[in-house]
Amino acid sequence: MRKPIIGGNWKMNRGAPAEAKEMLEKLIPLVKNIENVDVVVCPPFTALTSSIDFVKGTNVKIGAQNMYFEDKGAFTGEISPLFLKAIECEYVILGHSERRNIFKESDELINKKLKKSLSIGLKPIVAIGEHLEERESGKTKEVIQRQIDETFKDISKEEMLKIVIAYEPIWAIGTGKTATPEQAEEIHAFIRELLTQKYEKETADSIRIQYGGSIKPNNAEELLKQANIDGGLVGGASLQADSLFEIVQAAHKTSN
Ligand code: PEP
Repeated sequence: MRKPIIGGNWKMNRGAPAEAKEMLEKLIPLVKNIENVDVVVCPPFTALTSSIDFVKGTNVKIGAQNMYFEDKGAFTGEISPLFLKAIECEYVILGHSERRNIFKESDELINKKLKKSLSIGLKPIVAIGEHLEERESGKTKEVIQRQIDETFKDISKEEMLKIVIAYEPIWAIGTGKTATPEQAEEIHAFIRELLTQKYEKETADSIRIQYGGSIKPNNAEELLKQANIDGGLVGGASLQADSLFEIVQAAHKTSN
């Protein structure tokens, strides 16, 4: 019922147009016959335009890693959502934990960005997740509930259906520590339960919730076969076409 979505977040690792092209050139033929999985690659801004042009007519989609919520003005160093629309960017990651932690983005700011992205038809992938100390002190669900309430504040049912949620336990991002399939599934089911309370079951059952945090080819299948895990947001393993493809294949296999 929910089409899995695999997103590759290149972070600040592969931003020259030539290196983006080199990876996409390998990925495109690998995924060309996979119809039951959405494949989205998110390069840095410097490689967005060239990547968007390069994937035209293929089943690879391109997303940005961030945006600001204002259309234009004195916001040095920021990127307008209108600029992303103008280059035909399809997706945008919002609220990644690196944005929240290093750049101090709040739930309130992410909510503004989210509303803006929806209003202009950019497809948002919204990341949420708890810190290690929060997990160890039994606060994971409390943190997730707050993030859902505040990040999705005043978001209608119709808008919610356009959003992809990425549950990314912060302690598992870039650390090689993956949540076990059971730990991930418990929180994914909890998120769906919160969405059921906030909207209703039919809407909650239609929203895609990706898992992110050290997904690799060797653990992807176990994670992706969980009932409430609808794909993955992949950092390190998305930099090479082969490893991203193996994760896409795992999504393809488990969604059949
Ligand atoms: C991410 O960047 O969202 C991520 C999950 O990174 P990694 O796969 O490297 O842990």
